[in-house]
Amino acid sequence: MEEAPLQKLEDELLQEKGVELWVKREDLLHPHISGNKWRKLKYNLQEAKRQGHHTLLTFGGAYSNHISATAAAGKEYGFKTIGIIRGEEHLPLNPTLLFATSCGMQLHYISREKYKSKAEPDFLEELQQQFGNLYLLPEGGTNLLAVKGCTEIVQDIDLKYDYLCCAMGTGGTLAGIVAGLAGERQVLGFPALKGGEFLRREVEELVQAYSGHAYSNWQLITDYHFGGYAKVKPELLAFMEEFKQKHHIPLEPIYTGKMMYGLFDLIGQGYFARGSRVVAVHTGGLQGNAGFKERLGVQIL
Ligand SMILES: *Cc1c(COP(=O)(O)O)cnc(C)c1O
Repeated sequence: MEEAPLQKLEDELLQEKGVELWVKREDLLHPHISGNKWRKLKYNLQEAKRQGHHTLLTFGGAYSNHISATAAAGKEYGFKTIGIIRGEEHLPLNPTLLFATSCGMQLHYISREKYKSKAEPDFLEELQQQFGNLYLLPEGGTNLLAVKGCTEIVQDIDLKYDYLCCAMGTGGTLAGIVAGLAGERQVLGFPALKGGEFLRREVEELVQAYSGHAYSNWQLITDYHFGGYAKVKPELLAFMEEFKQKHHIPLEPIYTGKMMYGLFDLIGQGYFARGSRVVAVHTGGLQGNAGFKERLGVQIL
């Protein structure tokens, strides 16, 4: 595992508003098991080994960072991997699935309808029957061992700060951050999907189940979904491009681009008091940019 350094940003807006912004570069943790997906897999891999499993099975869309990370982790740590992919097979494989298969992952496609039952006991039982003895990782890799891994994101930040910001899909990463901070500082979660208010409940339940506490030093910022999960707008892509030019930090449009756009927007609005120090977690996910380029014909990296 590599280091995930803290990088301080220099920017006119930050200077004007008297806000300090640091990026926690979780994207640099591992070349293929990037960012929060590595944090979420870490204790699950140990547990799978402990239970004597040889195969990991998980779920995801065709561009999923979690599928990509699980495939790479399986290869590195000696597990067979099976990916249950939402929707139909498209050939040639997109860059995410091509990478996953190059790591040895077996892909199985299921209909979008069937995919909805991905967490139902009957369906999981069916998969166990079909593929044998498996260690099951839920979609996005979120479970209590993933929350445990994500608590280490904050243990790894050697800096005093006021706010910590993180993008959200299932909310597992934010739950780990909230549990890890144990009531200290303020945490802002930026859902990547529309109607992200439901994540409040998910995070509350995960934090409670993991730590036995209910903390109130966190909130959701739901205004920066850009129309929904994996939806983009030209101003988002332009922001990401400018951000990369200025700070030499690549973002991706699904999670980190939206969070950073939202964060700069909040800073511009004076959301943070002068003198505030903010840390934004770069959760990685850059593998997805190759597929985005292919789908939209836009160059991101
Ligand atoms: C998966 C992912 C997230 C969302 O993590 P959750 O734990 O599901 O909320 C955020 N950022 C990136 C880059 C991701 O790949």
